[in-house]
Amino acid sequence: MHKTAFVWDDKYLLYSFPGEHPFKPLRESMAKKLMEERGFFHEIDLVKPSRIDENILLKVHDKNYVDFVKAMSEKGSGYLDSGDTPVFKGIFEAALIRVAGTLKALELLNSYDHAINIGGGFHHAKRNSAEGFCVFNDVALAAKIAEEKYDKIAIVDIDGHHGDGTQEILYADPKTLKISLHMYHRNFFPGSGNMEEIGEGDGKGLTVNIPLPPGTADDAYIEAFNEIAVKKIQKFSPNLIILVEGGDSHFDDPLVELKLTTLGYLQIVKEVHRLAHEYSNGKLLLLGVGGYNYDATARIWTVSTAEIANIKSPDVDVLNDCCYTSSTPFVINKVHDIINKLKEIHGLVN
Ligand SMILES: [Zn+2]
Ligand SMILES: [Zn+2]
Repeated sequence: MHKTAFVWDDKYLLYSFPGEHPFKPLRESMAKKLMEERGFFHEIDLVKPSRIDENILLKVHDKNYVDFVKAMSEKGSGYLDSGDTPVFKGIFEAALIRVAGTLKALELLNSYDHAINIGGGFHHAKRNSAEGFCVFNDVALAAKIAEEKYDKIAIVDIDGHHGDGTQEILYADPKTLKISLHMYHRNFFPGSGNMEEIGEGDGKGLTVNIPLPPGTADDAYIEAFNEIAVKKIQKFSPNLIILVEGGDSHFDDPLVELKLTTLGYLQIVKEVHRLAHEYSNGKLLLLGVGGYNYDATARIWTVSTAEIANIKSPDVDVLNDCCYTSSTPFVINKVHDIINKLKEIHGLVN
């Protein structure tokens, strides 16, 4: 009922920006170590990604951009964007192996209920540009490929930043629902993700942005999730759910000022897991992405993996934060306004 595969390749560690850059693959290896120490891989199958043909990237990226990344990768210096995503030698291959992991996880859903690639989730990459530490958008690509088999797909992105690349690539897409909960505040990266961005053409109404103020804690976050994301998913009734679980909505993250605890994350993951069994025959793909407090991110991914694979153990419980966080009345009021507006915009008024 919860047959789960976990995709991993030691080559994931090659995706590492130099110097003091916040994005390091140590997060992924710390998470995997926590899982190994708790015997997860006796119950979860560990699977290595297969090599992929780079032309598959052209489903979501322009050839000029793919060629540009390849040339920069050989050169080994400079930036892929205006300054967040530095180049290192071999970045093309390093990014490609992460994409291969997500595509392997998607393929594994043919024989597993759930598949996990904490090495994936590069939601900022756009059709024609890198952005925010992301080179190739494996989230949008997985959705595009999945559309050949599944009628309706829901992407739920709970990274602390707006999933702008995924939104841009799939903005007019009629088969994939894109839900993103993120911090939204003046000058905060990437600047997009307001409530009025709802999709276009045949995709109109299928982009749902839940912009949250700094200070949003477990209580208000979970309420917004239940009132908007859950209701939209129930209405859409997807055959596959992709959860993009960045760890940077955690209260201890240095880049984002949301206040989720591991317990808050776990509530969201439990609900998504339940929805997958209710609507999608269990089909659930879990991806990673942001998370700059490495310890918190590793714990979030570990307790989430345990939930999805139905592993219950006190050794897992001890990884959780002690207690839920509460939002201030000011923040709660703001989030209630957002919920009410979103209900109107997306026709979720009871
Ligand atoms: Zn399950
Ligand atoms: Zn993020």
